[in-house]
Amino acid sequence: MIPVVVDTRAVTDAMRRPVRDLRVSVTDRCNFRCRYCMPAEIFNREYEFLKRDLLLSFEEIVILARAFESLGVQKIRLTGGEPLLRKGIEQLVAMLAGATGCEVTLTTNGSLLARKAEALASAGLARVTVSLDSVDEATFMAMNDVGFPVASVLSGIEVASRAGLPVKVNAVVKRGVNDSGVVDMARHFRGTGHILRFIEYMDVGATNGWRMDDVVPAAELVRTIDAEFPIEPVAPNYRGEVATRWRYVDGAGEIGFIASVTQPFCATCTRARISAEGMLYTCLFAFTGTDFRRILRSGAGQKELIRTIRRVWKARDDRYSEIRSEATVDIPKIEMSYIGG
Ligand code: SAM
Ligand code: SF4
Ligand code: SF4
Repeated sequence: MIPVVVDTRAVTDAMRRPVRDLRVSVTDRCNFRCRYCMPAEIFNREYEFLKRDLLLSFEEIVILARAFESLGVQKIRLTGGEPLLRKGIEQLVAMLAGATGCEVTLTTNGSLLARKAEALASAGLARVTVSLDSVDEATFMAMNDVGFPVASVLSGIEVASRAGLPVKVNAVVKRGVNDSGVVDMARHFRGTGHILRFIEYMDVGATNGWRMDDVVPAAELVRTIDAEFPIEPVAPNYRGEVATRWRYVDGAGEIGFIASVTQPFCATCTRARISAEGMLYTCLFAFTGTDFRRILRSGAGQKELIRTIRRVWKARDDRYSEIRSEATVDIPKIEMSYIGG
């Protein structure tokens, strides 16, 4: 494979933010129906999922990834929907790891991880993020809304870890739903080496009925954890890291908090997102994007792809989380399961 030549005129957007991270959704389908993401009453009924031939092929994803890399992207995260539902996902990991110098990671609900972890690690996956909102069986089953048990996700984490994959655990906290279990989550994961991160519930999409009252501010979560297991802040690993890092004073490891709603981090947001059908979005809360499947299938070469990405990125001025208010909740947005988290 010819090495990617990094464009020395690496692009920055209208707010001087470079493009560093590429999130690629490989499917809009999922075997869970998390109430905050794909509520069953909508996604089991009128919602139209993408047909197979509308999805980007693995080859098309690699071509796009190389174009992004030449403009400065260093990390690629595979997501969805549930990325492990995409057949041959480990081949895509191997193709991306072989064709780019980027770190390739993946976010999963963990349901198929025990089966896939070994193959993903061998394919060159750098690490995995597993979403798990509660270690309480009844709470977790109600949240995923398909009755999926906690133990199966925990066994996926175990197998991934044994396969040599560093594991992070993400938990979305919704008031009155799982906030009473955050200390139990911390207790479960402290000392394991798996970094737990609590995420504020966001108003992504138009189907989850988000209300500000449902958000548990990260500052409140920090106080709750600190009262049980004293924690102290740790310096960020790099500028623009989304999670604030903390460590247990007793040496039991790290824990993180992602305050996307109460302390937005748009000023340092370097993420581009490609939907499963090849639309490029420059913000999680965007409604319009650029159709790269059409561009790819019209026979565009690498130069044209790079030119188009550069043009889109230069015009980018997104900062939704900074301007979020009760009034912005109802503006049209695409679904999280479509754009990828
Ligand atoms: N299915 C995979 C999973 O759940 O990890 C990958 C896709 S999912 C859309 C990516 C992440 O987005 C998950 O960690 C999920 O908890 C998070 N997420 C989904 N809806 C959210 C919301 N409304 N607010 C905050 N995070 C959300
Ligand atoms: Fe599926 Fe992930 Fe959305 Fe849950 S958060 S419904 S697991 S895509
Ligand atoms: Fe980035 Fe948009 Fe989220 Fe702001 S709201 S951090 S610009 S994705």
